[in-house]
Amino acid sequence: AQLDTLDLVVLVALLVGSVAYFTKGSYWAVPKDPYASSAVANGAANSGKTRDIVEKMDETNKNCVIFYGSQTGTAEDYASRLAKEGSQRFGLKTMVADIEDYDYENLDKFPEDKVAFFVLATYGEGEPTDNAVDFYQFFTGEDVAFESGAAAEDSPLSAMKYVAFGLGNNTYEHYNAMVRQVDTALSKLGAQRIGTAGEGDDGAGTMEEDFLAWKEPMWAALTDAMGLQEREATYEAVFSVTEDELKTPEDESVYLGEPTSAHREGTAKGPYSAHNPFIAPIVESSELFSVKDRNCLHMEISIAGSNLSYQTGDHIAVWPTNAGAEVDRFLEVFGITDKRHSVISIKGIDVTAKIPIPAPTTYDAAVRYYMEACAPVSRQFVSTLAAFAPDEESKAEIVRLGNDKDYFHEKITNQCFNIAQALQSITSKPFTAVPFSLLIEGLNKLQPRYYSISSSSLVQKDKISITAVVESVRLPGASHMVKGVTTNYLLALKQKQNGDPQPDPHGLTYSITGPRNKYDGIHVPVHVRHSNFKLPSDPSKPIIMVGPGTGVAPFRGFIQERAALAAKGEKVGTTLLFFGCRKSDEDFIYQDQFKIWQDQMGDSLKIVTAFSREGSEKVYVQHRLKENATLVSELLKQKANFYVCGDAANMAREVNLVLGHIIAEQRGMPAERGEEMVKHMRSSGSYQEDVW
Ligand code: FAD
Repeated sequence: AQLDTLDLVVLVALLVGSVAYFTKGSYWAVPKDPYASSAVANGAANSGKTRDIVEKMDETNKNCVIFYGSQTGTAEDYASRLAKEGSQRFGLKTMVADIEDYDYENLDKFPEDKVAFFVLATYGEGEPTDNAVDFYQFFTGEDVAFESGAAAEDSPLSAMKYVAFGLGNNTYEHYNAMVRQVDTALSKLGAQRIGTAGEGDDGAGTMEEDFLAWKEPMWAALTDAMGLQEREATYEAVFSVTEDELKTPEDESVYLGEPTSAHREGTAKGPYSAHNPFIAPIVESSELFSVKDRNCLHMEISIAGSNLSYQTGDHIAVWPTNAGAEVDRFLEVFGITDKRHSVISIKGIDVTAKIPIPAPTTYDAAVRYYMEACAPVSRQFVSTLAAFAPDEESKAEIVRLGNDKDYFHEKITNQCFNIAQALQSITSKPFTAVPFSLLIEGLNKLQPRYYSISSSSLVQKDKISITAVVESVRLPGASHMVKGVTTNYLLALKQKQNGDPQPDPHGLTYSITGPRNKYDGIHVPVHVRHSNFKLPSDPSKPIIMVGPGTGVAPFRGFIQERAALAAKGEKVGTTLLFFGCRKSDEDFIYQDQFKIWQDQMGDSLKIVTAFSREGSEKVYVQHRLKENATLVSELLKQKANFYVCGDAANMAREVNLVLGHIIAEQRGMPAERGEEMVKHMRSSGSYQEDVW
């Protein structure tokens, strides 16, 4: 077939895209935070320390390092769990290491009697996590250059034993790309992998079970390779947690929920980042719709005077607070209600231990602000509590839950329990014997949640809009409703701000005014994450956007921007939005605003709607896309960018398929060729996804 315009566009764009892809780490990576190593939340253990892992392991007498590349904390959590298990069950001398804290040029000196683990999450379109960008580039770049001068052909890593586990999501095209590529690269350099390169699948919801199933044969292989002896695992604390009776929560040195020492001291200043959030005022908040148990929030968050900046299409991260009712439950279950305001010091027993929580703090603040106390529970973590059960009966039940995957699913996972709810379902007696260190080790630190910014930086550079649906889900078979941590916190902030008559519709309360009342006047800690989800720099280029539900968030920003440009008299290309929701009079968000922008943009704005619950048959955005095949194809020929935002599991995949069909059909090509074209569009950046 002859090349036509679209093919040429695709080819050229592919080339540009490849260049962009390979230079991405250096040009696009989130810059390392200059305060990161001194920020308490990031652990003080690494400040000013060596970046030479071989030296570090020697100095600290370790024979097993577990590197993690983590974006949301899960990979980091798995790394800690492997470290603990390696030490307690197999007597390994383990340490956990953030992969960006060390250099890679000297890994060819990694000694043969030691082992390195790589626990690596894949992010977005097969990308490394922010902290693994340099590592990824080092090992997958053209020439791997070790300090010693050893070349790739010399098998420079032949002494290195390694273990690999990846965290991925099969709904993305580049499933577990990180671990696969790193595994290939390390093997090519002569390193010996122990066990299989494990792959956990978040898309199928089997991450935890994939991890558990992978690690047993891996430990068996490692036992052989290193001549280890398995022993009965007993709990050995990684941190010592001690109550400090000399201190009170009023003492200035005590963290009551502040993210960093500077926040505690009241001297927080920029640059604000993932390690140093800005305590931002919420200037306006409202509900876009509210039907029964479903509602959606719109918030305007001011970043004026913070030196934070954003670009249309970026993400904002919100640092949440756990709901009061869940904090109370947690403290009750572990028998620490009476001493919730006691001050605790947390110290690493081992010099390499990173303390995940700022300390000294109180039990209350630790659970409310720093621990992911409401998340789904891992079977392995529940088993570790057996030794501390209040009686034999509960102990036997926990052992059974730990050993029997199906039983655990039925009793815990399918009930959507968090850890405190899970233990309450076993016995009403408190688990007073559980060391608090075990809870700090076993639970993730509370993670910021990301939101696609729904405003245009051109129109409102100092004010970031958020569009968030409040998570209140009752899953089939579950006895209670699961409440999303951040969205219910945001809802409470909105209710407070607007003086809503019913501030607490679901029985949840929050410490709205924050630690030491620092969030009073309705503030919320945030940081901005730059993304590659961007409008074309030339506004006359057409764009096609598919964003059902809250997936419309970034497109509200895109349209706001183009409407402003049109109002200024600039030529704006066709701006085609496919929006879907249940009913036109129920959850069609931003309808009124779209009308105003329609006036400014005239024919260049086209909005195609799909209402799934209005007709006799369910209609979704992908159906509308198909119906508009000619227009879509025409716009693609005019070099339109294609954007998808929202649900990763179903919608994004469907849209991807439908677009392939449209291209093939409209251009008289075989179906595979259509799929290929979409792939090319992806790698060249003309097909962009922002999905979750
Ligand atoms: P969480 O507490 O994190 O819970 C999330 C879900 O997990 C719950 O709905 C529930 O189904 C399940 N769950 C929680 N606890 C349990 C349990 N114990 N047992 C079983 N299941 C449980 N969202 C938007 O609304 N708008 C956006 O614009 C937006 N943009 C995003 C952009 C990016 C890049 C990403 C990664 C995500 C985006 N999200 C967006 C999603 C958002 O980050 C949050 O995941 C979402 O708001 C839920 O957060 P939460 O803290 O309220 O819920």
